[in-house]
Amino acid sequence: MTDEAAGLLQPGYVIENLFDEVLATLSGMAALDQSLGAILDAAMRLLAAREAYVFLRVGDQLRLRASRGLYQSLAVTASLALGEGIEGLVAERGEGMAIADVTNDPRFRDLPGRASAVRSMLAIPMKLRGEVVGVLVAAKREVGSFSIGQQRWLAVLGQMAAVAIENDRLLDRERRRSRQAEVLLGLTSLEPASIDDFLQRLAEAVNDAMSVNMTGVLLVDPIDGLLVSRGLAGRAMVDAARRGGLDRIAIEGDDLICHVFNDRQSTLCNETYDEPRARRQLTELGIRSILASPIVVDGQTVGVIYLATARPGSFESDDPTFLTLIAERVGLQVRKLELAERRTDMERQHAHQRAREDFTAIVSHELKTPVAVIRAYTEVLQRRAEKGEPDRVAVDILSRIEDQAVGMLAMIDQLLDLQRIEGGVLLLERSRFDLADLAGRVAEGLQVTTSRHTLTVVAPHPVMVIADRQRIEEVLHNLVGNAVKYSPHGGPVTITVSLAETEDVAMPLAAGKSAGGVGAEVASEQSRCAVVEVADRGIGIATRDQSRVFERFYQAVGAPYKGRVGLGLGLYISKEIISRHGGHVWMQSQAGAGSRFYFSLPLAESADSD
Ligand code: ADP
Repeated sequence: MTDEAAGLLQPGYVIENLFDEVLATLSGMAALDQSLGAILDAAMRLLAAREAYVFLRVGDQLRLRASRGLYQSLAVTASLALGEGIEGLVAERGEGMAIADVTNDPRFRDLPGRASAVRSMLAIPMKLRGEVVGVLVAAKREVGSFSIGQQRWLAVLGQMAAVAIENDRLLDRERRRSRQAEVLLGLTSLEPASIDDFLQRLAEAVNDAMSVNMTGVLLVDPIDGLLVSRGLAGRAMVDAARRGGLDRIAIEGDDLICHVFNDRQSTLCNETYDEPRARRQLTELGIRSILASPIVVDGQTVGVIYLATARPGSFESDDPTFLTLIAERVGLQVRKLELAERRTDMERQHAHQRAREDFTAIVSHELKTPVAVIRAYTEVLQRRAEKGEPDRVAVDILSRIEDQAVGMLAMIDQLLDLQRIEGGVLLLERSRFDLADLAGRVAEGLQVTTSRHTLTVVAPHPVMVIADRQRIEEVLHNLVGNAVKYSPHGGPVTITVSLAETEDVAMPLAAGKSAGGVGAEVASEQSRCAVVEVADRGIGIATRDQSRVFERFYQAVGAPYKGRVGLGLGLYISKEIISRHGGHVWMQSQAGAGSRFYFSLPLAESADSD
């Protein structure tokens, strides 16, 4: 006697045992596969069936979840649309169907995993709270109807399968909830070094905890207006995402992530093929489910966080709430880190500023004071040495020491000026004075330092300006000093102070080009201005150096003059002083023939009207 026959002869005993087994599996909270397996085994035996299987409903589809008697490898892909085939109809109507001979029934659809043809079929809807969640099917090779008893048994097993599914879903939800809680909790214990560090670690933590294929965080770049990836996790998909342009997205775009950003709303898509805004970019990357939330800081959307998987139907209805919570925390943390980064930046700037001030203080006190003292003492010694019996050697040495001290003081002053210019604290103390008179005094002062040069001032009329007298004296001193310095064989140095049309000097670069001139600043639009020209017949400047002599620390290479050293700052400082007065500096020169340096200043009348 076969088992089947025994089962049929002693139904009470067999049924009791089978149901006990199924119940034991269910109450033991076994994995869903195991519970469904026990239910299908019971169905096979109770109905003496050839096949038994369970379809689960996912949206408008039925997907095969577990089976007995079907070829496993073929059956895994089996799916039917709602209303398609006997199973689809049962799911759609929510009522069981018993078919005595499927070959006579046009509604029947064969499955790809069938080992041999079936003839009779019993399909029962699996319901939870009135909603069909799947279909339980038993099929035989023989034609024939199913008894009322068999139909009841399968209905009971269908109920059990529905409970098993419910258990599984609850368990799964529970697991997700606890993982979500872990992620939220973990966020507070992250101690990130920077925004990027935080976002990358966050992406990794969320990706792991949510078991998704990819997690990304994009923040908008205020400069180019793109959403730029700042954290991206998920092994296989990440490279493809970068290649696919998911790490830099234009905000005006029409894809899902842009909509989340612009509409400021979390969006859940469980099948990217059904979502036009997701279709192109996301499906190409193999993304089938995506959940994205906007990141908002102080009421302003600053980015998007998204989770993506390669499976359709990955997200549940409560997942957007979770991601919204994460996005809120990300927003808060980003703001906190931004403030911290700004504070560090400011502290760095302050430290920089303090270092500059320290430098200025050290140079002006610790360095300048002793040099000035040396200079004063040499003067005293020189005066004493010249009295009575002058010791020629001592006088000569003393005058050399004084020269060096004067040079050093000039260089220290230039360094201090540079500090002031770069720190934006070169202050001007304006007064009204005659530029021609000032030029005369500077020439007089420098004439006593040289016997080989003849310094001449050509200034037929007073030229009144309102400017910082001391600073303009510094400029004149630089230019006339250079004319002397770079005319090592002596010769005339002519300083001309005159008036000119502002137009003519406003574009010195363009105007001077044909004459071989080079300009440095263009700033004023007054009608007439003062112009000072310092001309020498010295070594001149090679064309290739002419455009650079106004740069800081620039010294023309290969200049044959190797006498007194400089820092290459005089012209840079002069240019800054003049341009702060609203004037221009420019030059003309020819190597070997001499140079002409010019600067212009607004006249007192125009300066008055300012
Ligand atoms: P420095 O301290 O070297 O003189 P400047 O800024 O005053 O620095 O000048 C920059 C460079 O321009 C000089 O090193 C020199 O090569 C060149 N230069 C300046 N004035 C003249 C001039 N009158 N004749 C020739 N070369 C000059």
